[in-house]
Order: sequence, then structure tokens, then C-alpha cells
Amino acid sequence: MLKGRVAVITGSTSGIGEGIARILAKHGCSLMLNGFGETEAIENQRSELARISDAEVLYNGADLSHASQCIDLIRDAEGRLGRVDILINNAGLQYIAPIEDFPPDRWDYIMAVNLSASFHTIRKTLPLMRRSGWGRVINIASTHGLVASAGKAAYVAAKHGLIGLTKVVALETAGSGVTCNAICPGWVLTPLVQDQIDTKAASEEISNEEATRKLLSEKQPSGAFTTVEQIGSLALYLCTENASNITGAAIPMDGGWLAQ
Ligand code: NAD
Repeated sequence: MLKGRVAVITGSTSGIGEGIARILAKHGCSLMLNGFGETEAIENQRSELARISDAEVLYNGADLSHASQCIDLIRDAEGRLGRVDILINNAGLQYIAPIEDFPPDRWDYIMAVNLSASFHTIRKTLPLMRRSGWGRVINIASTHGLVASAGKAAYVAAKHGLIGLTKVVALETAGSGVTCNAICPGWVLTPLVQDQIDTKAASEEISNEEATRKLLSEKQPSGAFTTVEQIGSLALYLCTENASNITGAAIPMDGGWLAQ
């Protein structure tokens, strides 16, 4: 279905980004992977996805907290893969502290990776999409792009900003063959959330299983994690022609979190 298409997926060495990369690869898409990790593990992932997709899969280790490296990532994808049709802005991280104790350097770093990086990658990618008359920008926001939780000042601010950016890009590209949407997952069991479960278990002196149950029951009525495969399937759907009139949307996948 995506044979001949090229996707750049930021933060695709782990979690949700890795899940999206796998499903796009299964549908024949060429990929530019990005994110941190062990060289050998990344090479194994890259070669496995190349085998699955039967297309070119490359890796660029850009640190997206730097604008220049965001720009280089897109240039590298265009240079080595010839085009960019799909841009998935997924790289992100969390830091939890009350605002009075929130370290300003953590604020700056999270705003850079969770918000500004998407501005830089979109800015460089849109001319390529406009040239071919087709494009899909998918920003991985969060339920925290639509509602808040205490202790997550930078994350919540950045994700709200990312949904705002999504809407502006949708308006500026409307009718051009390019769409721009945000996916808003609730809890997904990735290293980002496992860290929060570990912290909860330690601070409340409870087991990992109990901390997991409490984390889910506080926010996610279904009591189940959203899976990376489910998010990947939604991203894939947004890349189809049936989704060509969905743009500017912030689509939850959150087990009822936002219905409360
Ligand atoms: P993860 O920690 O498993 O993966 C994060 C990825 O981002 C990794 O590949 C990491 O190397 C990369 N990354 C981090 N900083 C980077 C930088 N400076 N430059 C380049 N890459 C960098 O986390 P995840 O849970 O898969 O999160 C992926 C996205 O989904 C994030 O934007 C997160 O906010 C969002 N999200 C996650 C959940 C969840 O419950 N896990 C819920 C809602 C939204």
C-alpha cells in the first residue's frame, strides 16, 4: 500500500515510533529512522525493517533538541531516499516535578524536542510534499495535548502547543493533497511510561503490578494500555486515500481518558 512512499519517523528506535515504523514497513514504505540507542540494536532494527518492507530503510541519529539537526534529518532523508511523503513527529520525553521545582533546563529541553523539533521538521518537509502534491504529517501528541495532569508543566504545554501547530499546518495545506493530524494516545506501555510506573512503585512502596493498576485506574477507564500496534494502525489509516479529508484533527486513542 505504501510502496514507493518515504517516511521520516522521529524517535523510532523505541516505543510508539518503533511500532509505527514496523507497520509502515509491513506496507512497503521506505523509512528514515531516528532516535537514540545502542548502535548494534539500531542496526538490527534497521536491517529487520528493510527485510520486512523490501524497501530502503536508513537511520539518522539527529539530536532533535537542536534545530540544525532537525533540518539535517530532513535534508538527509531527501538526499538519500529522494523524497519525503510521510513525516511522523514522534520523538518526545517526560519530566515530572511541581512547577516551583521544575528545572528550567528540563523545560527548555522538553519544549525543544516535544514541540520545536516538529516546527523545524515540518518547515523543511512541506515544500517537498507540496512539490509532489501529496503528503501526510502526523504529530504524536497525547491526551496531555487536550487536558492536563499535575507535575507535567513542560510536557502538557508542549503537547498543547503541538496540537495548535497541527491545526495551523492543516489550514495552510488544506486542498493541497497534504494533511496534518495529531494522534493523542492515553497510556501506552513504553519505556517512557514504565519509568513512571517504577517511580510510583518506589514512592508509594507498592509492587509494580499494583502501581500499574493504579496508574491505569487514575486516568484510563478501559483499564488497558493502548498498544503501539493500535497507534501504528491509526497512523497507517491516516496515510490512506480514505483519510484524505481528515486534517487538523487531534484524534484520541485513550481508553476513555478524555470522555471523563
Ligand atoms: P520512548 O521513550 O519509548 O521513545 C522515545 C523516542 O524518542 C526514543 O526513540 C528516543 O531515542 C527518542 N528521543 C528522545 N529524545 C530525543 C532527541 N533529543 N532527539 C531524537 N530522538 C529523541 O517513548 P514513547 O512512549 O514511545 O513516546 C513516543 C511519543 O509518544 C512521545 O512524543 C510521547 O510524548 C508520546 N506519547 C506517549 C505516551 C505513552 O503512554 N507512552 C502517551 C501519549 C503520548
